[in-house]
Amino acid sequence: MKIGAPKETYEGEARVAMTPASAKDLQKLGHECLIEAGAGQKAGFTDDAYRAAGVTVVGDAAALYAQADIVAKVRQPSDAEVPLLRQGQTLISFFYPGQNADLLAAANAQGTTVIAMDMVPRISRAQKMDALSSMANIAGYRAVIEAGNNFGRFFTGQVTAAGKVPPAKVLVIGAGVAGLAAIGTATSLGAITYAFDVRAEVAEQVESMGAQFVFLDFEEKQDGSSTGGYAAVSSPEFAAAQLAKFREIAPDMDIVITTALIPGRDAPELWTADMVAAMKPGSVIIDLAAERGGNCKLTVKDEKIVTDNGVTIVGYTDFPSLMATQASLLYSTNVRHMVADLTPAKDGVVAHNMDDDVIRGATASHAGEVTFPPPKPKIA
Ligand code: NAD
Repeated sequence: MKIGAPKETYEGEARVAMTPASAKDLQKLGHECLIEAGAGQKAGFTDDAYRAAGVTVVGDAAALYAQADIVAKVRQPSDAEVPLLRQGQTLISFFYPGQNADLLAAANAQGTTVIAMDMVPRISRAQKMDALSSMANIAGYRAVIEAGNNFGRFFTGQVTAAGKVPPAKVLVIGAGVAGLAAIGTATSLGAITYAFDVRAEVAEQVESMGAQFVFLDFEEKQDGSSTGGYAAVSSPEFAAAQLAKFREIAPDMDIVITTALIPGRDAPELWTADMVAAMKPGSVIIDLAAERGGNCKLTVKDEKIVTDNGVTIVGYTDFPSLMATQASLLYSTNVRHMVADLTPAKDGVVAHNMDDDVIRGATASHAGEVTFPPPKPKIA
């Protein structure tokens, strides 16, 4: 079958769903690869690099959608792209079907099978296709780089002939995939790193990465876990104890990176205006939850602001796209693994097995039916 990757049309999106390396692997599965001219340019992959990898470069999106049996994309299709989808075609992209019901209905009406990379079940067997984790890892790393770029001092402490430099103090709120990547990056740069999560079970992981876990003075167990390793909403008492702790440590923190999310909800507000006001001038907040409303009260989505007391707050939502080469390499590998599972005989023939938990979980529409939401996976 022919697998094609179009140029992303979402404003500012620099990633691409197929790289020359992933194309070579896709060809080993028996598929032919197509790319829209210029699709990899912003991520550092030239048309010639694709040609050298055996990929056919197609002039425009319409030609690509017309020829491809499988369309691999990063972002969900725009309203202008939906009419290009075809009967019997498979689309593999981030789709967020829970938030995009109309778009899903429209893609289904075109007769397209939609595989939502954001719906890949987070079970061990599917880790190789877990694009959410791939992108969260990049966002966590890049958040620290962005913080450093906006912070006027070193991360690491130094004793120099010109004076003693104290290490930066970094607080990471939310120690999931992005938070752990941020912790690893901040400690490797020499910062004193603190981390907090409502899920007490991550304390060990945090400490094994060289950071200190912030425990609350709370008589009940610090445990906000719900099913599947995700967080649940905290009780009002727990939330109050958490805010009190943050209020206490805010003046001492140079950099705060917030990543706290609860599935299906707006981001919890954890860093209030008075905490920002208590921070030292020159401090930096990177709010990775900005897309879902932000963990910091003062975050402005997709913007960088500086408060009256000199605190920089970054609310960018495109951190993976800011590292487009790395993000494309990881995402295209996740997509290639998905295609491999769809091509079990490695003969270029797609066998869409709805009895497979991972394929079923990610399939949002198939054979003329909307198949979202999927049933819960049987295996963990
Ligand atoms: P996420 O993006 O939904 O949330 C980020 C973090 O915010 C989580 O650690 C959560 O506990 C935390 N949080 C929520 N409310 C908070 C609050 N009020 N204060 C502080 N922290 C708060 O989570 P994620 O990064 O996608 O991953 C969550 C879990 O899923 C982790 O345990 C991770 O290891 C697990 N996971 C498993 C797999 C797999 O098995 N394939 C893959 C990815 C993630």
